[in-house]
Amino acid sequence: MTDILGGTLLDPESGKAGLYDLRIRDGIITEIAEGGKLPAAEADVIDATGRIVTAGLVDPHVHFRDPGFTHKEDILTGAEAAKRGGYTSVVMMGNTSPHPDNLETLRYMIEKGAQTGIRVYACANVTMGMEGKELTDLEALAAAGAVLFTDDGLPVTDAGIMREACKRAQALGKMISLHEEDPAFVKESGVNAGAVAKELGLSGASREAEYSMVERDIAIVRETGCAIDVQHVSCKESVELIREAKKEGLPVHAEATPHHFTMTEDAVRQYGTLAKVNPPIRTKEDRAAIIEGLKDGTIDMIATDHAPHAAEEKALPFVKAPSGMTGLENAFSLGLRELVRPGHLTLTELLRLMSTNPARIVGIPGGYVREGAEADLLIFDPDTERVADRGLSRSSNTPFTGQRMPGVVHTVICKGKTVYENV
Ligand SMILES: [Zn+2]
Repeated sequence: MTDILGGTLLDPESGKAGLYDLRIRDGIITEIAEGGKLPAAEADVIDATGRIVTAGLVDPHVHFRDPGFTHKEDILTGAEAAKRGGYTSVVMMGNTSPHPDNLETLRYMIEKGAQTGIRVYACANVTMGMEGKELTDLEALAAAGAVLFTDDGLPVTDAGIMREACKRAQALGKMISLHEEDPAFVKESGVNAGAVAKELGLSGASREAEYSMVERDIAIVRETGCAIDVQHVSCKESVELIREAKKEGLPVHAEATPHHFTMTEDAVRQYGTLAKVNPPIRTKEDRAAIIEGLKDGTIDMIATDHAPHAAEEKALPFVKAPSGMTGLENAFSLGLRELVRPGHLTLTELLRLMSTNPARIVGIPGGYVREGAEADLLIFDPDTERVADRGLSRSSNTPFTGQRMPGVVHTVICKGKTVYENV
């Protein structure tokens, strides 16, 4: 039995806030009592005085590179980075080798995920080998535990394949997460087709690449009723299309990454390949539109797109270096720094975007603090500043290392067990 005493509870789902003590028994929150009023009992005590007690964070989009690319990350090291970032649940993408387009690989990912102490979920691919040609056995993969379908890393370019996938996913009640970037509009990936690309002598990846596919897929949702998630939204046109789709009542969801709501294409000039991500970080106006989308609910999730790469890979020339940055350990702090401190969002709204919404949209537990629920909790201090360090991920490809960050994660509890403590 564990008692968490003296903290300020903030339940992102209900908005309940105030001084409350919590009792956890057999992994379940059995009591939430006004501060100081929990009946005495023999229990381990976590002193949360001066700290906030909330739901563990939920990331619908991480790359743990396992199987196949474990020199970058594996499921165990990825989970350690997640815990340190305050996460109790993550969904792994499937651009691994082999891909989770078959039951054996999917089961490997789920079983290894179960060894981490947190909830590590696996997606299954939409198409075999992520080649965009032949659909996987969506039904069997869903039955084996895939929480959603995605070919993330690549778009599903064939509209006919996408339409068929949506019909089958809809029948299963599963969502399809989409990396929307039509290669026809991408000359070189990872840099916005704009001023900075020009300085590098490149054409870059244009905004049309994203919003043309978002437009197509909203039309497919309208026809099939299948829920989709537009991953890592990067431009203002996409935000507007998603806003209109939501007004129509379509099941269209969207993610923003911390790098897209924090930086502009100037980051590529400043940080080189460390700021090379797909889709690229774009302009001031795009960043403002993403923040606006987070404020008005158009973008309903914050996802890290945690994408580890080895230092020697990121040291390659810009065009040859792989795209992506690590993100799990700084995401929450960037939310505090870029969204809460400037007054765009309240702390509760940020937490909802990072826990309640992704859990509900993916269809997994989490994102709430209530009696009778499993105890997936994060205890943190929002005001203390820290300097972003190398982190626990096997890779450390992020431009944020060395920057001042508000927010320190103190304790992470998953299913009632303490899985991370900042000592
Ligand atoms: Zn992606």
